[in-house]
Amino acid sequence: MEPRFSCTACGACCHGWLPLTLADAVAHAGRFPLAMVWTPVRPNARSYDLATRLGATLRLPNRKTVAVLIVPTAYLPPSHPCPELRDDGRCAIHGTKPSRCRTMPFYPYREERDQADLLIPRKGWACDVSAAAPAVYRNHTILDRTDFDRERAELLDQAPVIRRYADYMVKYMPWILGELAKLPPGPAGGSLVTSLSSFLTATRRPDAAQIAAAQAPLFQAMAGRTRDDPALRDYHRNYAGWAREMEALARRASAQPTPPPAQDAT
Ligand code: SF4
Ligand code: SF4
Repeated sequence: MEPRFSCTACGACCHGWLPLTLADAVAHAGRFPLAMVWTPVRPNARSYDLATRLGATLRLPNRKTVAVLIVPTAYLPPSHPCPELRDDGRCAIHGTKPSRCRTMPFYPYREERDQADLLIPRKGWACDVSAAAPAVYRNHTILDRTDFDRERAELLDQAPVIRRYADYMVKYMPWILGELAKLPPGPAGGSLVTSLSSFLTATRRPDAAQIAAAQAPLFQAMAGRTRDDPALRDYHRNYAGWAREMEALARRASAQPTPPPAQDAT
């Protein structure tokens, strides 16, 4: 049977972590509290080769090699709605929403031939998969592929920056390899979360101060929202710590001397 799918804008999937392209993370730095999410992909996984192209290939202390997807992510507890989700379940930034939201339910971190199960709505999701919905996938091929191709192309383009970040982390925070080795294998094996400030420091972005200044109040607000919930203790600790890091980064980066303007070559 040909899978059919249409979004009814129920808003159910607009909760929790939202993986972003780097360009979307920067463009929406004033909206989403951001973190870097590291997910190992073992060599026997179906999309391993793709993961080596989109992410970094690392050798763990147990001498096993893994591909690691390192994804800028809107870092929200699973129970928390996206800040752009309106009360009526619709998206407040529909025209400029991130690539990840446009490509739903397809997922370009997986090979195109391996997307069928993503078209089965999860519990509580009101996606229309009836005969009235349009066909979206045929013979393991996505029929309207514009958004999928764009998101995949963005991920491939940004891969060298992601690898530079991985190299920096392995050099200056080598404990991260041990933490990755501890994650259980398999598709639901879990992820490791690192701060956006480590990414901004590693990549020496010229707009680091602006991004940090945009992020600091978001982390402060999320620290306040998660303070009294024991189930969200880890989130609260990260938000509070990252708020301080972002404030310091914003101050430090903006205190750097501005390079003199280029002289006219007359
Ligand atoms: S940006 Fe819009 S579509 Fe994307 S998760 Fe948020 S509310 Fe949903
Ligand atoms: S769960 Fe399905 S119907 Fe609801 S917003 Fe997400 S994609 Fe659309």
